[in-house]
Amino acid sequence: MPRKTTRSVQIGSLTVGGASPIVVQSMTNTDTEDAIRTAAQVADLARAGSELVRITVNTEAAANAVPEIRDRLLSMGVDVPLVGDFHFNGHKLLSAVPDCASALAKYRINPGNVGRGAKRDEQFAQMIEIAAKNEKPVRIGANWGSLDQELLAKLLDENATRANPKPLEQINREAVIKSALDSAARAVELGLGKDKIILSCKMSRVQDLIEVYQSLAAQTDFALHLGLTEAGMGSKGIVASTAALAILMQQGIGDTIRISLTPEPGGDRTNEVIVAQEILQTMGLRSFTPMVTACPGCGRTSSTYFQELASRIQTYLRDSMPAWKEKHPGVEDMSVAVMGCVVNGPGESKHANIGISLPGTGERPIAPVYIDGEKAMTLKGDHIAEEFQSIVHKYVESHYAV
Ligand code: SF4
Repeated sequence: MPRKTTRSVQIGSLTVGGASPIVVQSMTNTDTEDAIRTAAQVADLARAGSELVRITVNTEAAANAVPEIRDRLLSMGVDVPLVGDFHFNGHKLLSAVPDCASALAKYRINPGNVGRGAKRDEQFAQMIEIAAKNEKPVRIGANWGSLDQELLAKLLDENATRANPKPLEQINREAVIKSALDSAARAVELGLGKDKIILSCKMSRVQDLIEVYQSLAAQTDFALHLGLTEAGMGSKGIVASTAALAILMQQGIGDTIRISLTPEPGGDRTNEVIVAQEILQTMGLRSFTPMVTACPGCGRTSSTYFQELASRIQTYLRDSMPAWKEKHPGVEDMSVAVMGCVVNGPGESKHANIGISLPGTGERPIAPVYIDGEKAMTLKGDHIAEEFQSIVHKYVESHYAV
């Protein structure tokens, strides 16, 4: 799929845009004033694979906590770029707490939440000037839930004078794009380099998001951050985000992504990182961790054993990745198949680096294992799972040695 070339933006040691791979980002949900808990959650997100982590900066105490969060992370060996999320009072906080302005790697500015009337321009300029002085990139992140109301009113008035007024939804979409593009142009006028600007125009409906980003990408070469805002919980959030982002990325649109999942109560915030990685990996855009191909099971499946084995192997692979990443480069491209019977089992297993075809109903209780397309051995008895895991481990050691 052809990538649309955008300007590249340097965020610490990370490059976003240009020919760089699409970057995974995430956001904390801790109170930033609590530096200990926020640093711990940022570390969790970074260790799960988030390459940028955004934190809310909404009060002076939160701004004061940012350098401590940065220092705590560095002492944990976590050097992930931190993005400050500013609304309403960002100009005040960045001015009042210069150490926050310098500790952050990037600022997110929502042009709909910068202020009203003449103050809007003044406060926006204040933030951009601080970004330029600190040589920090910004994301100008418009969101249809916090659209610039003055801009929207102006576009609606213009629309009302048309012989055939456009539908309200179209004006909303145009307003989000115009808000981002006009703010970016203003930031450049104020002295921020074009290589310091990322744009986003988040919508909460799939078709709106696709249409807005297609239009935005046609109008600008700024690097683009993609995300379906307020995606929701569980499978709905995952499906809606994937549907929208996959279509856009397939068209070469998007340089960074975030999956805005609402966690289940007590749920793990890192799920949004895993989902983002899985979207990119299943689309063949990036590799993060070896993937397990498993059949869904059917009336030929003799037990839930193959589901348990598939789950066990996927967990083993994911848990092993932090150590393997250093010791076994390239292992993230490995594929493993766990199949439930002879119908598709041997064929699918041969397509994987390592595959196992478990016995279905009425089959002999043996499990042939295929390595790089060839039948290598047959497992049977009570320890198939342990033996298969050991085969996978040995394969990694021998095929992905430094
Ligand atoms: S591989 Fe066998 S068990 Fe798995 S879905 Fe296909 S027919 Fe059913």
